[in-house]
Amino acid sequence: MMKISRIPARRDGIIFILSAPSGAGKTTLIKRLLKVFSDMTLSVSYTTRKPRLGEIQGCDYRFVAKESFLRMRKKGLFAEWALVHGSFYGTPCRRLEVMGRSGKDILLDIDTQGRRKIKRRFPDSVSVFLLPPTWQELHRRLATRGTERRDLVRKRLENARRELGEITEYDYFVVNRDIRKASENLRTIVLAERQRISRIRKWR
Ligand code: 5GP
Repeated sequence: MMKISRIPARRDGIIFILSAPSGAGKTTLIKRLLKVFSDMTLSVSYTTRKPRLGEIQGCDYRFVAKESFLRMRKKGLFAEWALVHGSFYGTPCRRLEVMGRSGKDILLDIDTQGRRKIKRRFPDSVSVFLLPPTWQELHRRLATRGTERRDLVRKRLENARRELGEITEYDYFVVNRDIRKASENLRTIVLAERQRISRIRKWR
């Protein structure tokens, strides 16, 4: 038996990964989570996608030209990157490393390809897959969102089916039938992960 000489106070920051097919309600859920956990930070990705109406530079994404993205990738500035729906997306390294050391949690809103790369690099990260209640509901949400052309809606549905095939690699799932319930489930996952014995740096 180990002789414990101190009550644990410090742990490393946790990387939480949230993936979901577009239309599953991820943005709303993330907003609610960040409100509950004011000490959690959202990682802002770089993307070559054009901003949608209402999206803010530096807040939703760092929107950059393809050349700048490729230059950053070459310099190794991304912890992971992926081509999603024809655009590049990447998670910048710096924030991840700083947050981890300072004991602060960080949330990554990334796709299944990104999760695989982050998990390989940061095995202690926690991944959650958000699901819509049904396929019909996902289709309805995408079609009524009005931000996408019809061919893009079809492409996003196809991607959703492919992404769902990877759900068994995730640590947790949350079904977004009711946003309040889904938020509560996600909050519970965060709280439980923060209490893991293995995350405490020093017991002695
Ligand atoms: P959207 O263009 O709808 O904002 O995002 C499309 C997809 O790209 C979503 O599944 C989102 O999670 C994913 N995504 C956003 N940022 C990143 C990133 O930095 N890396 C990866 N791998 N995927 C990302």
